[in-house]
Amino acid sequence: MLKVVLGEVEVVIEAVSTVPDAAVSGEDPAAVLAGTEFGARCRPALVRWRGRSLRYVAVWPERAVLGPADPPPDLAGVVLAQVVRGWRCRVCGRRVTAVVPEGALPFFGGNLKPHRWAANCPHCAAHVDRARMHALCLLPERPDA
Ligand SMILES: [Zn+2]
Repeated sequence: MLKVVLGEVEVVIEAVSTVPDAAVSGEDPAAVLAGTEFGARCRPALVRWRGRSLRYVAVWPERAVLGPADPPPDLAGVVLAQVVRGWRCRVCGRRVTAVVPEGALPFFGGNLKPHRWAANCPHCAAHVDRARMHALCLLPERPDA
Protein backbone atom coordinates (compact mmCIF):
# COMPACT_ATOMS: atom_id res chain seq x y z
CA MET A 1 0.00 0.00 0.00
CA LEU A 2 1.14 3.53 -0.81
CA LYS A 3 -0.08 6.54 1.09
CA VAL A 4 0.45 10.10 -0.13
CA VAL A 5 -0.70 13.12 1.85
CA LEU A 6 -1.26 16.34 -0.07
CA GLY A 7 -2.39 19.03 2.36
CA GLU A 8 -5.75 17.85 3.71
CA VAL A 9 -6.12 15.19 1.01
CA GLU A 10 -4.93 11.64 1.66
CA VAL A 11 -4.42 9.25 -1.27
CA VAL A 12 -4.13 5.50 -0.66
CA ILE A 13 -3.09 3.23 -3.55
CA GLU A 14 -3.47 -0.53 -3.12
CA ALA A 15 -2.68 -3.69 -5.06
CA VAL A 16 -6.35 -4.68 -5.01
CA SER A 17 -9.39 -2.86 -3.74
CA THR A 18 -9.99 -3.77 -0.10
CA VAL A 19 -12.70 -1.24 0.65
CA PRO A 20 -16.31 -2.43 0.82
CA ASP A 21 -18.59 -0.71 -1.68
CA ALA A 22 -20.81 0.71 1.04
CA ALA A 23 -17.92 2.65 2.56
CA VAL A 24 -17.10 4.74 -0.49
CA SER A 25 -18.79 6.64 -3.25
CA GLY A 26 -18.12 5.79 -6.86
CA GLU A 27 -17.69 2.65 -8.89
CA ASP A 28 -14.47 0.62 -8.60
CA PRO A 29 -12.52 1.86 -11.64
CA ALA A 30 -10.04 -0.99 -11.42
CA ALA A 31 -12.88 -3.48 -11.94
CA VAL A 32 -14.19 -1.51 -14.92
CA LEU A 33 -10.72 -1.36 -16.47
CA ALA A 34 -9.86 -5.04 -15.97
CA GLY A 35 -9.46 -6.58 -19.42
CA THR A 36 -8.64 -3.27 -21.11
CA GLU A 37 -5.17 -1.99 -22.00
CA PHE A 38 -5.33 0.01 -18.75
CA GLY A 39 -5.84 -3.03 -16.54
CA ALA A 40 -2.13 -3.88 -16.35
CA ARG A 41 -1.02 -0.41 -15.36
CA CYS A 42 -3.61 0.78 -12.91
CA ARG A 43 -4.32 0.12 -9.26
CA PRO A 44 -7.29 0.97 -7.03
CA ALA A 45 -6.92 4.26 -5.20
CA LEU A 46 -8.88 5.92 -2.46
CA VAL A 47 -8.96 9.67 -1.95
CA ARG A 48 -9.95 10.78 1.56
CA TRP A 49 -10.94 14.41 1.91
CA ARG A 50 -12.98 16.15 4.60
CA GLY A 51 -14.41 12.92 5.98
CA ARG A 52 -15.35 11.52 2.57
CA SER A 53 -13.82 8.54 0.79
CA LEU A 54 -13.83 8.61 -2.99
CA ARG A 55 -12.89 5.77 -5.30
CA TYR A 56 -10.29 6.52 -7.95
CA VAL A 57 -7.84 4.54 -9.98
CA ALA A 58 -4.13 5.32 -10.12
CA VAL A 59 -2.93 5.05 -13.72
CA TRP A 60 0.77 4.67 -14.56
CA PRO A 61 2.12 5.93 -17.90
CA GLU A 62 2.22 3.56 -20.86
CA ARG A 63 5.89 2.68 -20.43
CA ALA A 64 5.28 1.38 -16.87
CA VAL A 65 5.25 -2.35 -16.14
CA LEU A 66 3.50 -3.26 -12.90
CA GLY A 67 3.86 -6.53 -11.07
CA PRO A 68 0.94 -8.35 -9.47
CA ALA A 69 1.79 -7.32 -5.89
CA ASP A 70 1.86 -3.93 -4.24
CA PRO A 71 1.91 -0.83 -6.43
CA PRO A 72 5.45 0.31 -7.27
CA PRO A 73 6.64 3.16 -5.05
CA ASP A 74 7.66 5.21 -8.08
CA LEU A 75 4.74 7.57 -8.70
CA ALA A 76 6.41 9.43 -11.59
CA GLY A 77 3.74 10.13 -14.19
CA VAL A 78 0.92 8.59 -12.17
CA VAL A 79 -2.49 10.23 -12.49
CA LEU A 80 -5.67 9.63 -10.55
CA ALA A 81 -8.82 9.03 -12.57
CA GLN A 82 -12.51 8.34 -11.98
CA VAL A 83 -15.01 6.27 -13.93
CA VAL A 84 -17.92 8.30 -15.30
CA ARG A 85 -20.80 6.48 -16.96
CA GLY A 86 -23.32 7.84 -19.40
CA TRP A 87 -21.32 10.33 -21.43
CA ARG A 88 -23.13 10.90 -24.72
CA CYS A 89 -21.27 11.25 -28.01
CA ARG A 90 -22.27 14.52 -29.68
CA VAL A 91 -21.91 12.88 -33.11
CA CYS A 92 -23.71 9.52 -32.83
CA GLY A 93 -25.62 10.05 -29.59
CA ARG A 94 -24.57 6.74 -28.07
CA ARG A 95 -23.28 6.46 -24.53
CA VAL A 96 -19.81 5.63 -23.27
CA THR A 97 -18.05 5.02 -19.98
CA ALA A 98 -15.16 7.45 -19.59
CA VAL A 99 -12.04 7.25 -17.45
CA VAL A 100 -11.51 10.88 -16.53
CA PRO A 101 -8.26 12.12 -14.99
CA GLU A 102 -8.38 14.27 -11.89
CA GLY A 103 -6.38 17.37 -12.60
CA ALA A 104 -7.17 19.31 -9.45
CA LEU A 105 -5.02 17.39 -6.97
CA PRO A 106 -1.56 18.88 -6.60
CA PHE A 107 1.26 16.53 -7.62
CA PHE A 108 -0.99 14.17 -9.58
CA GLY A 109 -2.44 16.97 -11.69
CA GLY A 110 1.01 17.72 -13.11
CA ASN A 111 1.48 14.16 -14.36
CA LEU A 112 -0.87 14.20 -17.34
CA LYS A 113 1.76 14.80 -19.99
CA PRO A 114 3.10 11.21 -20.43
CA HIS A 115 -0.43 9.84 -20.89
CA ARG A 116 -2.09 9.15 -24.20
CA TRP A 117 -5.73 10.24 -24.35
CA ALA A 118 -8.57 8.48 -26.09
CA ALA A 119 -8.78 9.74 -29.68
CA ASN A 120 -12.16 8.53 -30.97
CA CYS A 121 -15.68 7.59 -29.96
CA PRO A 122 -15.70 3.77 -29.49
CA HIS A 123 -19.07 3.59 -31.32
CA CYS A 124 -18.76 5.85 -34.38
CA ALA A 125 -15.01 6.66 -34.39
CA ALA A 126 -15.68 10.40 -34.43
CA HIS A 127 -12.71 12.40 -33.13
CA VAL A 128 -13.06 13.32 -29.44
CA ASP A 129 -13.10 17.04 -30.30
CA ARG A 130 -16.25 16.54 -32.38
CA ALA A 131 -17.72 14.01 -29.94
CA ARG A 132 -16.85 16.33 -27.01
CA MET A 133 -15.53 13.48 -24.91
CA HIS A 134 -12.02 14.02 -23.54
CA ALA A 135 -10.79 11.20 -21.31
CA LEU A 136 -7.93 8.74 -20.90
CA CYS A 137 -10.15 5.89 -22.00
CA LEU A 138 -13.61 5.58 -23.60
CA LEU A 139 -15.47 2.28 -23.35
CA PRO A 140 -18.70 1.56 -25.24
CA GLU A 141 -21.85 1.24 -23.15
CA ARG A 142 -24.60 -1.06 -24.28
CA PRO A 143 -27.97 0.67 -24.75
CA ASP A 144 -29.44 -1.41 -21.89
CA ALA A 145 -26.52 -0.73 -19.52
ZN1 LIG B 1 -19.97 8.48 -31.44
